[in-house]
Amino acid sequence: MNLLLLDRAVWSLVLDLLDALTTGCYEHIMRTKETKCKWGHKMWDASKCDLCGDCLVRCRYVDYDKEKAVAEIRLLMEGKDADILTKCITCIACNDYCPTGADPSNLIFKMQERIGTSPIVVALAPFLDVITKGLEGQGEPGHLIAGDPDKPVLSLDSFDFGEIPEGTLDSQLFKGMTVVRGIEYMSLVGCVHMGGESFVEKYGQRVIDKLASLGKDIVYFHNEGFALVHVKAKEYGITVPFGYMHLFEHLRNYLRDHQSSISKLGKKVAYQANCATRYVPEQDDFLDEIFELIGVKRPPRLYERLNAVCCTAPIINTNRELAIGIQEKNVKDAIECGADALITSCPYCDRVMRRPTSQLSLTKIFITDLCRIALGEKPWPEG
Ligand code: SF4
Ligand code: SF4
Repeated sequence: MNLLLLDRAVWSLVLDLLDALTTGCYEHIMRTKETKCKWGHKMWDASKCDLCGDCLVRCRYVDYDKEKAVAEIRLLMEGKDADILTKCITCIACNDYCPTGADPSNLIFKMQERIGTSPIVVALAPFLDVITKGLEGQGEPGHLIAGDPDKPVLSLDSFDFGEIPEGTLDSQLFKGMTVVRGIEYMSLVGCVHMGGESFVEKYGQRVIDKLASLGKDIVYFHNEGFALVHVKAKEYGITVPFGYMHLFEHLRNYLRDHQSSISKLGKKVAYQANCATRYVPEQDDFLDEIFELIGVKRPPRLYERLNAVCCTAPIINTNRELAIGIQEKNVKDAIECGADALITSCPYCDRVMRRPTSQLSLTKIFITDLCRIALGEKPWPEG
């Protein structure tokens, strides 16, 4: 066959494949040297990685020196198995440690999914199967509670009503809002904790179209849902045809508009950030304003903001010893900084932090409940 007679499109494909092989990108043969592939997909960007090793040297869940860290990244770049795939607890912190924005956690999550042997991926495969069925329309249908026509939708992601604090939907904070929940509305971003990095790309548009069919703006109760529309949709070229808001901004707005109903709490609280906060760090400013409005101080502590630790939900069943060690250090740090309570904003974090906070006698409060306490809907929990 005369190679010169090959169709232009076929040549382009061959060149892309060569490009993928020479740049070390095995994720998608259509990747170019830019941040996005030709179809608009963002992914791990090998061209931004200078092999400094910072991401894995700073990872608090392994003890790698620079040489080992660089060797691990090299293996992943070559599409090979590496020690970090079994050790990574999917906390996303290395994205913040990377000085060049190469997105190392994305590389690790893709490779965890591909290799498929990390304890997290193996243990959570049955859950991912249930999610896949739900997203393919073969699972339990979602729930919709219709609200006032002029109010936005509150998306609870795939959480059951029983997984959010009791009475939340009766609160003035969400009065009249349409409420949806179920796998068909789920955020997908959290699938990285189960070996499902590809789920955003596979199902992102479907989930967003389902929410768009409601014809309203969306308030995301779960941080991951907001990360899907605000960050991942742009990276993956997914269209978001509705307005949306993070829970923190919604709470801030409500409290701002109802300041005369607030009784300042005069408490100090520590914050357990949800891991996807790494994708939307700007939401922290809304939280700071919420605290100011309700008279709460956030005392400085070791494990917060850049230095925050994982709630341990992804590893609680696969590496219990490590999980309990992290939880204890985390809760003790919150106590030592003088906090009266630890605040959570994700139902998974909230559930997994229940045992250590109770054992170490630190009050734990979901962020919506903290606002409800300030609005007089609930009392401060008894110690
Ligand atoms: S995601 Fe977290 S645990 Fe995994 S390598 Fe990065 S910093 Fe370490
Ligand atoms: S991903 Fe970032 S932090 Fe990690 S080796 Fe590459 S440039 Fe350094």
